[in-house]
Amino acid sequence: MALREVLQFPDPRLRRVSEPIDTITDELRELARDMCDVMYDEPGIGLAATQVGVAVRMFVIDTEWSEEGMERNASVIINPEILHKDGKIIWEEGCLSVPDYTAEVERAAQVTIRFTDLDGKEITEEAEGLRAICLQHEYDHLDGILFIDRISRLKRSLYVKKRKKQQSSEQE
Ligand code: ZN
Repeated sequence: MALREVLQFPDPRLRRVSEPIDTITDELRELARDMCDVMYDEPGIGLAATQVGVAVRMFVIDTEWSEEGMERNASVIINPEILHKDGKIIWEEGCLSVPDYTAEVERAAQVTIRFTDLDGKEITEEAEGLRAICLQHEYDHLDGILFIDRISRLKRSLYVKKRKKQQSSEQE
C-alpha cells in the first residue's frame, strides 16, 4: 500500500487551522494507522493530520522508538489542549514538512496536556524533555503553525529563500 504523502512547506494546506473531532470513526482509525506508518517510514517522531492534508485535530507521536532497544509505541492524540506550561528548553528541531532544515527553538520544558485517545478515553498527561517539545511542535501544526514561525525573522527568510531556489530548480 502506498504511503500518504507528507505536504511540504510552503504548501498552503499546512497553514489551515484544523477542526475538532466529534466522533471516532473507522475512517479516523485508518488515518491514525496511516500516519503512524508514515512517521516510522520517514523516519520521524511525530506527525500531525494537517501534514498529510487532513485538517482535523489529531497527531501521532513516538519519541522513544528510534532509541536502541525501544519498541514502537505510538500515542494517538485527539483534540489536545495544553493545560499548563512550565520552564524553558531549547532544542534543535526539524519537521517532515520543512525539508533540509533544522533550527533551535525555545519551548516550555514541561507541559500538561489533556486529549482523547483512539478509544475515546480522556487522558491527562504530564510530559517533559523531548516528549514535551514534540507535543508542542505537533500541537502547533493543528493551528497551522510551523517551527520556522518560532525562529528569528532573519533565519526564516534565509530558509524561505533557499526553499524558493530549490523549488525553481526542481521545476526546471
Ligand atoms: Zn512538524
